[in-house]
Amino acid sequence: MIIMKFGGTSVESKQAVESVTAIVRTYQSRRPIVVVSAMGKTTNKRLQAAQEASAGRREQALAIIDELRGQHLTHGLALAGSFSADLDRYIRTHFEWLDELVKGLAVVGELSPRSTDAIASVGERLSSLVVSFAFNAAGLPSKHVDSRSVMLTDDRFTHATPLLDETYALLAENVRPLAETAVVVMGGFIGSTKDGHTTTLGRGGSDYSASIIGAGVDADEIQIWTDVDGMLTADPRVVSGGHRVKSISFAEAAEMAYFGAKVLHPATVLPAVEKDIPVVILNSRRPEVEGTRITSKAVPCKNPVKSISCKRGVTILNVRSTRMLMAHGFLRRIFEVFDRSGTSVDMLATSEVSVSLTLDHEEALEAISEELRQFAEVTVERDHAIVCLVGENIRHTPGIAGRAFQVLSNINVRMISQGASVLNLGFVIADSDLETVVSALHTEFFSELDPEVFA
Ligand code: ADP
Ligand code: ASP
Ligand code: MG
Repeated sequence: MIIMKFGGTSVESKQAVESVTAIVRTYQSRRPIVVVSAMGKTTNKRLQAAQEASAGRREQALAIIDELRGQHLTHGLALAGSFSADLDRYIRTHFEWLDELVKGLAVVGELSPRSTDAIASVGERLSSLVVSFAFNAAGLPSKHVDSRSVMLTDDRFTHATPLLDETYALLAENVRPLAETAVVVMGGFIGSTKDGHTTTLGRGGSDYSASIIGAGVDADEIQIWTDVDGMLTADPRVVSGGHRVKSISFAEAAEMAYFGAKVLHPATVLPAVEKDIPVVILNSRRPEVEGTRITSKAVPCKNPVKSISCKRGVTILNVRSTRMLMAHGFLRRIFEVFDRSGTSVDMLATSEVSVSLTLDHEEALEAISEELRQFAEVTVERDHAIVCLVGENIRHTPGIAGRAFQVLSNINVRMISQGASVLNLGFVIADSDLETVVSALHTEFFSELDPEVFA
């Protein structure tokens, strides 16, 4: 049994779903369970409608919902063949419900995390129905499973944590047997609390859903089908000409994902590691390309660096003790503040009297700064980026830092960190330097390539 997860661009239109159908058909003998994201970029649109409505702009919100309805009907019904009357009814019912929800938000004038999830989840609920109907219409017997009936989570709406033991048991009991005889299709990203409230696993969470489902049904492989050939040596949104990494370890892939490689949600590798299931990243537009294989032990690599990750929109927080020297307990007090706000820190550097930390979002920044100011001076520096060299060979190759900083001799490097895992070397720079930095490092570390590992 295998898991095949298709991201938004892979199911954005009639043509895209037809390609998915053709791909899944070629894997039919491996008893695939298909996990899909919402169509195209529609999650953003749904969240935008929710914002508009809660800000009192009811008509704008309803217009966005109407546009989405049209998109789903046009592509969905064209795929559903003789089942189109049933699909039409499903799509319309979901959108009527969305209309009511949006009108309600406009009246109340506020948007709770729980309502946000109710609205966001419709994307995956519908795309999974559309794909299942399309498979059946194309003669590929399929069964739809509402992920909310098996993916149980806590109630931290918008970034819920799956309750893995319960979820694995439900998957083994209810989904695995179905997949013996039909292609099961499920929505990624969504789940439910035990008392039946819809939750989501956080943006980009469908990859994580796929690996949880893989672990739950004891799959042989988890395939993540997306719009690039695999994990590349550099983020293609920043530098073009990156090479495909053919083989990478779970630890390296996790580090890359954590430091900004959007191609994989950072939590994806956890269930896969636990059950030792390979994860393969593949391109739904070029299914003949072998992609990237992520396993516990990667193919040995002659290059010291496997890939360069980066993350934009990083804010540095400098926290300076108001006492002369760093009094003991200073770090503890700082981290208690972060703990209370549920905010995680990406990178950290300390000196005698000050601590610098980086955050990749600003949701809690105001509240955190205010609390810290009770015992420290705080300054905030916005518009930074983290760049991270990742590779297991970094730990036993001398001179990597020297080579990196030689290349960056004209760049102002604000913070440096070699992770405790010793398979990354990260630093913080101004966002405006990002392209220059990644491009220079890419030339330095990938001019010669180990053909066993890079394509
Ligand atoms: P999906 O909708 O299929 O989940 P995503 O947009 O979430 O797709 O992830 C794929 C994107 O990740 C690529 O289009 C690419 O822009 C981005 N990306 C960032 N870093 C990397 C990298 N190192 N290798 C490949 N893709 C990357
Ligand atoms: N549709 C969700 C999002 O856009 C989940 C995903 O695509 O993985 O974040
Ligand atoms: Mg994604």
